[in-house]
Amino acid sequence: MISWQPIIDDVAREVSPHIGKGKVAAYIPELARVDANHFGMALCTPDGRTYCAGDASIPFSIQSISKVFTLTLALQLVGDDVWKRLGREPSGSAFNSLVQLEQERGIPRNPFINAGAHVVTDIILSRLQDAKLKVLHFVRGLCNNSSVVFDLAVARSEQATGFRNYAMANFLKSFGNLNNSPDAVLDAYFHHCSMSMTCVDVARACLFLCNSGILPESGECVVSPALTKRLNALMLTCGTYDSVGDFAFRVGLPAKSGVGGGIIAVLPGHFSVCVWSPCLNESGNSLAGTAALELLTEKSGLSIF
Ligand code: GLU
Repeated sequence: MISWQPIIDDVAREVSPHIGKGKVAAYIPELARVDANHFGMALCTPDGRTYCAGDASIPFSIQSISKVFTLTLALQLVGDDVWKRLGREPSGSAFNSLVQLEQERGIPRNPFINAGAHVVTDIILSRLQDAKLKVLHFVRGLCNNSSVVFDLAVARSEQATGFRNYAMANFLKSFGNLNNSPDAVLDAYFHHCSMSMTCVDVARACLFLCNSGILPESGECVVSPALTKRLNALMLTCGTYDSVGDFAFRVGLPAKSGVGGGIIAVLPGHFSVCVWSPCLNESGNSLAGTAALELLTEKSGLSIF
């Protein structure tokens, strides 16, 4: 068995020159207030062990990592019908681009760009009453932590400034690809993005992705092994903004990042790992977080390749 703790400790030590390099996302004003010098890492294995370094227990804004949870829930609710309204190809453009949506007549390229997540949120809203809270409870159940909350200051900050998201949701509506009102979809979407979780919470919540869809602690089936394979494939090909190729080249793991500086990555059969450091590289992925994951796969000799 691999001794993870010394590897994680080495990674945290070697990554330290990268911490604070890059830029904190400032387009959501509340996110700009975070201390840029945080770094945390938590790795969970399906046998119930957790290995941590740095600020692994400090909550951060998960932002687009929430797209993994909402897609999982939508797949639970409607299965393959999701793909009637969404593509599954890398976008090759910015996560909030309007141009591609126009060219492709309101069908978002994939569920991990913003427009895709709006459609996923719309699906959940149409199926569940009080969808916002249902998503929160779903995530709490995945990580077995009832103290996960929406950070209302972050949600309100985005509600006040998310003009591009409003444009996109209205655009989707004009193409007939939203059933609910753009305001209702965005209210839920901004709250999902505002979930405040620690690296330990996020890594635990994604253990099912490295365990054939099953929560190891309770034995509960979240999604089938076939859907788990698909979620991981989407993370590999669409999960890290417009640099999925470079990320796969460097890290070699399915992953999803968020503008809060978090990245979740999984190695099916082995581990889920969450890193968090708020400063982002030019593609929008955590700069130190990406470096840490690259070091992790190099030092352990484990990746999907
Ligand atoms: N709430 C953010 C937005 O919609 C999420 C972006 C991200 O983390 O990729 O702009």
